[in-house]
Amino acid sequence: MPIYFLDQKELPTHYYNIIPDLPEPLSPPLNPKTKKPVTPEDLSPIFPAELIKQEMSPERFIEIPGPVREAYKLFRPSPLIRAKRLEKELNTPAKIYYKYEGVSPSGSHKTNTALAQAYYNKQAGVKRLATETGAGQWGSALSFACDYFGLDCSVYMVRVSFDQKPYRKTMMKIYGADCVASPSEKTETGKKLLKENPDSPGSLGMAIAEAVEDAATHADTNYSLGSVLNHVLLHQTVIGQEAKKQMEMAGDYPDIVIGCHGGGSNFAGLAFPFLADKLSGKKPNLRAIAAEPKSCPTLTKGKYEYDYGDSVGLTPYLLMYTLGHEFMPPPIHAGGLRYHGASPIVSQLVKKKVVEAVALEQKGVFEAAVRFARNQGIVPAPESAHAIKAVFDEAEKCRKSGESKTILFNLSGHGHFDMSAYEQYLKGEIK
Ligand SMILES: *Cc1c(COP(=O)(O)O)cnc(C)c1O
Repeated sequence: MPIYFLDQKELPTHYYNIIPDLPEPLSPPLNPKTKKPVTPEDLSPIFPAELIKQEMSPERFIEIPGPVREAYKLFRPSPLIRAKRLEKELNTPAKIYYKYEGVSPSGSHKTNTALAQAYYNKQAGVKRLATETGAGQWGSALSFACDYFGLDCSVYMVRVSFDQKPYRKTMMKIYGADCVASPSEKTETGKKLLKENPDSPGSLGMAIAEAVEDAATHADTNYSLGSVLNHVLLHQTVIGQEAKKQMEMAGDYPDIVIGCHGGGSNFAGLAFPFLADKLSGKKPNLRAIAAEPKSCPTLTKGKYEYDYGDSVGLTPYLLMYTLGHEFMPPPIHAGGLRYHGASPIVSQLVKKKVVEAVALEQKGVFEAAVRFARNQGIVPAPESAHAIKAVFDEAEKCRKSGESKTILFNLSGHGHFDMSAYEQYLKGEIK
C-alpha cells in the first residue's frame, strides 16, 4: 500500500491565500453594532496585528515564520496514502488517496493554525489566549500550541461535550491549560445564559461569546478561533500544498477533492491549493466536495446572508451560509461539525458553484467509519468520517459507471477520544 512521505526540507515555506483568486471580492465583515465594515481598530482588542492583516490580505503567498515551520517539524509533512486495499474492497475502478492529519500532537489538523496563532500572539506580547471548543480538538490543539510558545490558555468547552468527553479536558490540563464548561460563571455572558437556563447544554456560539468577552475585557488576553475566519483557513493550506507534491510523486492529480465541513478549515486546507488550479483555468473540471451532517446542514440548507459568528452578537457580522446564530444543533456525535455558520470564503465558493456540498446521515457516516477502520486500520474522527462516506458514495458512482476517477480526501483526525460515540454505534443506538 503506497505511502508518500515528503522530506522535511519540502515543508511549505508559505501559506497560500486564495482571496486574490476568488471569483469576486469577498464582502467585508461588518462591525456587529454599527454594521459598517470592521476596521483593524475594531479587531485589535482581541487579535494581534499580524492576524488582522492576514484576514484581509491581498497577497497570494504569506511566508510561514521560521519558529512555526520548526514547530511543524514535530509532525509535518504528514503522510499521503493510496488506499488500494479500500479500492479493492469497494470494488471500484476509482483511485482513492487520503492525507492523514491525525499524526499531529493533538490528533487533528487544528494544530496547524493553533501553532501559527500562538506564535503571532506571543510576538505581539500577549500573555494568554481565550478560546472555545466543541468536541475538544481545537481546545487541545490550542492548549498544546500555547504551551509550546509560552502562553497561558483558557478554554470554554461546550457543556455537552465537557460531560461526554472528559479525557479531552484532561489532555488540555496536561498541556497546562484551564478548561471550564460553557456556559460558565466566568463571564457576564455565561452568567446571563445560566440564569435563563441553568441546565443549558451550551453551544459553540455561546462558548465563542464567552471567550470573546474574556479576551475583550482583559488587556493581556487575546481571542483565538479554530475555524471559519480567513486567516485560519490560510494556515491550513500547508495540507494541500504538501498533498500536491505527494500526488505529483504518485504521478497523479485528483479529479475530486473531498473534506468534511464544520467551519471550513480542513476542507479549505486540502482543497484550496488544488482549487487554485481550477480558478486559474488550468484544471477546469476539478470537483471539490464539502461533506456536512444532515442534522446541521449549513451549506446545503442554510441561507447566504450576513449573520453573527456567535450566539449573542459580539463577533463581526459575516456574509456566509448560516442556519441562524440562534440555531441549536442536535447533540450529534461529530461535535466539530455542529456550527450554525461557515467560512465566508467557502460560502462564496459554494454560492459561485466552484465547490459542491453534500449533507450526510449520521448512521451511514458511522458505517463508513467502521468499514474504513477495518480496512485501513485508522479509527477516524466522526467528523472526518463524513468525508469518508462522501468518498464511498463517489467510489460507488465510479463502480456503476466504470470510470476510474482519482479521489483525494482529508482524513482530518483520528477518533481515539470518540469511543463512546463508536460504542453507541456498535450497540445499534445511533439513529
Ligand atoms: C474541528 C474538526 C473538524 C471540523 O472543523 P473544520 O474547520 O470544518 O475543519 C473536522 N475534523 C476534525 C478532526 C476536527 O477536529
